[in-house]
Amino acid sequence: MPARTDSFDLGRLRLSSGEGRKHVLEVGLDPLQFGGETYVITPEVVGATLDISRTTHNGHALRLRFDASLRGPCMRCLEPARAAVSVDSREVDQPGDVEELRSPYVEEDVLDLRAWARDALALALPVQLLCRPGCAGLCAICGTDLNTSGPEHAHEREPDLRWAKLGELKFD
Ligand SMILES: [Zn+2]
Ligand SMILES: [Zn+2]
Repeated sequence: MPARTDSFDLGRLRLSSGEGRKHVLEVGLDPLQFGGETYVITPEVVGATLDISRTTHNGHALRLRFDASLRGPCMRCLEPARAAVSVDSREVDQPGDVEELRSPYVEEDVLDLRAWARDALALALPVQLLCRPGCAGLCAICGTDLNTSGPEHAHEREPDLRWAKLGELKFD
């Protein structure tokens, strides 16, 4: 089992220009905050593939891939929901005077793998995490779960006197 790696020393590899290396690592994943709710990542430590290649002029081209699953409240009805996410992210860190292209995750040739994995996962998330495709959500009036109450769930229209009065006004 590969050792857990939260940061990775790229300089230690001493790759020469054009040389590449593939590493399988264990990366720790922090829970994500999303719309005021906390989403737990499973597994918390994920097996990830890190491809490193040395560019010309002492830079690195990086690719990080892993699969994880996310657990938390459905964004419509708050029932438990989960989503599987495949992450495939690339970074380039190219120091140089003319065209400086630095990765925010590389500092002094040390890669902050945990921060990169967290951000890449957040970017790979579905826009809405739902308990089921097309979750019906909660009734806006009484909060009943519309997935279980069925489509016949409805409320009698209570006449609101203020609106009734407005209805009598004539705009012309
Ligand atoms: Zn739902
Ligand atoms: Zn209702």
